[in-house]
Amino acid sequence: MATTDNTNNKQTNNKQTPNLFVRIINKIFVYEIGIKAIALGIAVFIWFAAVGLGSVISPSDAAVSDAAVGFWQSFGHDIAVCFTGGLNIFTSIVDMILTFLLTYAVIHFLYKSSSSIAAVFVGIFILAIVIFTSKLLNFPIMGSIFSNGILILIIALLVMFPQNIRRQLNSAFSKSGRDIRMLDYDCTEEEFRTATNEIVKAVLSMSKDNLGAIIIITPRTVPQHILDSGTRLNSQLSQPLIECLFNTHANLHDGAVFIHGNKILAAGCFLPLSQTQSIAKELGTRHRAAIGITEQYAVTAIVVSEETGIISVARSGVLERYYDASMLTGVIEETYGIKSVVEKKPENVKKRNRKK
Ligand code: ATP
Ligand code: MG
Repeated sequence: MATTDNTNNKQTNNKQTPNLFVRIINKIFVYEIGIKAIALGIAVFIWFAAVGLGSVISPSDAAVSDAAVGFWQSFGHDIAVCFTGGLNIFTSIVDMILTFLLTYAVIHFLYKSSSSIAAVFVGIFILAIVIFTSKLLNFPIMGSIFSNGILILIIALLVMFPQNIRRQLNSAFSKSGRDIRMLDYDCTEEEFRTATNEIVKAVLSMSKDNLGAIIIITPRTVPQHILDSGTRLNSQLSQPLIECLFNTHANLHDGAVFIHGNKILAAGCFLPLSQTQSIAKELGTRHRAAIGITEQYAVTAIVVSEETGIISVARSGVLERYYDASMLTGVIEETYGIKSVVEKKPENVKKRNRKK
């Protein structure tokens, strides 16, 4: 019986580490395929709109200066010019691919940083660039302002969403970054589910007993200096061990526990506190620390309040309160990548627990 289980586990592990070719194909054609499809649609729209409205090629190049030529005729003509002649076809295809890659990068960033405000902002901005830089529509002042549209967009994003950009950069350069270490999972989906159950049981039990806790689930990257601020454990996680670590009589109860897969990496870790002014006054440093770490790193923070027993979850710098067992399971599985969408939250979840 034991032999069969081991064989099954090995097979599952083999499935989790496909060879390089399969991984590259997966990265290109399977990974984030939905985002890629949306990016492709938007890129095609931008490309055709930009070319057809004359932002890319001038009327003289396109030989459509004749005022009598109708709008749609000139629109079609400009696009046709891009596919006439070997060099034009080559540069147009490269241009399309680059437009797609740029669009995908922007959507990927917005999706990962869960910033819907930024998504709307970028959408309107790109539409404005296409319209205002159009030579056919000819807006002299707005046209000259938006002619450096991409530069303005990048500066605006840097100023408006510094935390999101920092978090994305932290994740993107995690391999080479000296402060963050990549961690590979070496557990099966079954083990992930068992670990999730253990975490959920521990959190619910601590909530019932009003035992304060802060647990950080790290999907991929681990901030090294933060782990070093606590005590390394690298032990198999279990409900009793988690509860034991947060027991007020235990030495390590102050600070956060870091979990990766089915392992407790460290306990008693000190997290960066969020400097956001708008966090509700009744929330103290534990909740502020949960918001702080998720502002900077792509991790999920689970908090149990010592005062009220309320379970909260912070992701991407946003704290949501009143989590129950099924919502917790959903959010942990989503962090581990074994569930793509978190179940719909009940009405009583207060989004962004911010003061009015
Ligand atoms: P609670 O609702 O549990 O009281 P709170 O948000 O009001 O939470 P505090 O009462 O200030 O927060 O909780 C203090 C505890 O939070 C500390 O004892 C410590 O365990 C934890 N904590 C505070 N700051 C940090 C930090 N920067 N990193 C990790 N843990 C922290
Ligand atoms: Mg408190």
